[in-house]
Amino acid sequence: MIKALKNKYALSDQGAKDLLKGIIYSVLANISLMFPVILLAIVLNQLLAPVLGTNAPEISAIVYTVIGIVILAVVFIFHYCQYTATYLGTYDESARRRIGLAEKLRTLPLTFFHQRDLADLTSTIMGDCANFEHAFSHTVPQFFGAVISTGIVCIGLLIFNWQMGLALLWVAPISFAIVILSRKCQEKLSKKHMNTRLELAEGIQECLETVQDIKACNQEEDYLRKLDAKMDAAEKAQISSEMTTASLLTTGQMFLRLGLATVIVVGNSLVVNGDTSLFTYILFLIAASRLYDPLSGAMANMAELFSVQLQVNRLKEIENYPEETGEKEIRTNGYDITFDHVRFSYEKGKPVLRDVSFTAKQGQVTALVGPSGGGKSTVAKLAAKFYPLDGGRILLGGTDIAPLNSTMLMKNYSIVFQDVVLFNNTIMENIRVGKKDATDEEVIAAAKAAQCDEFISKLSDGYQTVIGENGSTLSGGEAQRLSIARALLKDAPVILLDEATASLDPETEVNVLKAVRSLPSKPTCIIITHRPSALNICNRIMKLEKGHLRQVSRESILEVANELV
Ligand code: ADP
Repeated sequence: MIKALKNKYALSDQGAKDLLKGIIYSVLANISLMFPVILLAIVLNQLLAPVLGTNAPEISAIVYTVIGIVILAVVFIFHYCQYTATYLGTYDESARRRIGLAEKLRTLPLTFFHQRDLADLTSTIMGDCANFEHAFSHTVPQFFGAVISTGIVCIGLLIFNWQMGLALLWVAPISFAIVILSRKCQEKLSKKHMNTRLELAEGIQECLETVQDIKACNQEEDYLRKLDAKMDAAEKAQISSEMTTASLLTTGQMFLRLGLATVIVVGNSLVVNGDTSLFTYILFLIAASRLYDPLSGAMANMAELFSVQLQVNRLKEIENYPEETGEKEIRTNGYDITFDHVRFSYEKGKPVLRDVSFTAKQGQVTALVGPSGGGKSTVAKLAAKFYPLDGGRILLGGTDIAPLNSTMLMKNYSIVFQDVVLFNNTIMENIRVGKKDATDEEVIAAAKAAQCDEFISKLSDGYQTVIGENGSTLSGGEAQRLSIARALLKDAPVILLDEATASLDPETEVNVLKAVRSLPSKPTCIIITHRPSALNICNRIMKLEKGHLRQVSRESILEVANELV
């Protein structure tokens, strides 16, 4: 049972145990609610006996009061246990689930993050986990509790009086059938709603990230119109999903109430014909009101139960994604990077690199040039094993990087992309990210080598200046220099600069490259740049065009640079 719950809802062992406990207490709490019904029927039977001339046991008011207090205590205890088992258990499980997800994400290969949409991932981690929390505290245990307890009570009522039992219960299977048969339709609408919500989240995230460009290109109206359309689509999908679910649910719940009418009709005729006692009739009338409530609730919970299953599937997708494996011990003979007949495509049938072979030697700066979209960034990313290859090999110091563990491999790389990532912290700490245990002196030396010192000294708090979210208080060139300083501080044997110097003036760019060349570790550096001044001090220049690579002679640098402008 615990195993089945664990698999069905992707729960931990403890989570499945807590859920089972919640269900059991839910069953007991629901059954305990039948005790006041029985007591009320006995009281009414005794009160009506003199009027109707029937026989009823004589019980004193004190006995009724004592029984009433005991029943109240039992009801309270079971409800209290149900509350603590479901709510506290759920929040513990929720914490475990979030930590588990974070742990899992830590072990996933980089490919996963390049393939997955960030908005989708955020929605799974934040939104789905919050929905789980609600479902497992308010719905799932209560649903199973209601179904099981009602089943037990139904069996008792059928044994007590099968005719009245049938009159009361015939509506239940039909009502449930209405809701269950409409599941496919509800799932389809719920999936559509989830997709439109994701598209909207992506749209809003994209809008926030690109707000400056949107304004600069006067695309605000156009963009807002598209965002409005996404909001409308999400709203419509939500309304249609909720309306359909609500109408089907209400139909099922209304049908359930028909049972009360049959209890009255069948009960009347049985009492009139003397086939049953007044007590039984009263008992079934009160039971009808108590029994239909949990069943109605269970039906309402079914919709949430269906949608939880969709979210469980999304979560399982992450949980079942193959973890980063590979050899953790990396042995290389030097740090030359060799591309050996590399073929690669992001999408099947659209090759980006067709047959690329070259070696970027240790201690040298190798420049990649070529038209935009030619595949330069792709080469840099593949050199760091961001994606698996279609064919060929990439070697680091003679060792194929394919079977190596990416996290361990990354310790050998300093990568600076054009899109700089900075943290809302001081300049000192932003550079120290490159080497956690670096002293202040080492950080300052790296900043000087990356030509940052001049602008940092002009800031009122110098290295202690807080630079805002993603370095929002810095210019593009300053932010790039900080990220280069971080890479220099790491002093990894491989440095990849992907348009990382594009916002620097030519002189600064040359000085940065000179700093890279004079690093004590003599790294292998691959740089993507277009400027003749920078190309001039590179050891080799490779031109990438239409998926093929060829070496460019030093004499034709100007020609190449002009072609690219
Ligand atoms: P370059 O750096 O020379 O401008 P890129 O390596 O960025 O070129 O891109 C090469 C080709 O691969 C382009 O056609 C680009 O559209 C495509 N591409 C780049 N990144 C992705 C990606 N993540 N998914 C799909 N296609 C991509």
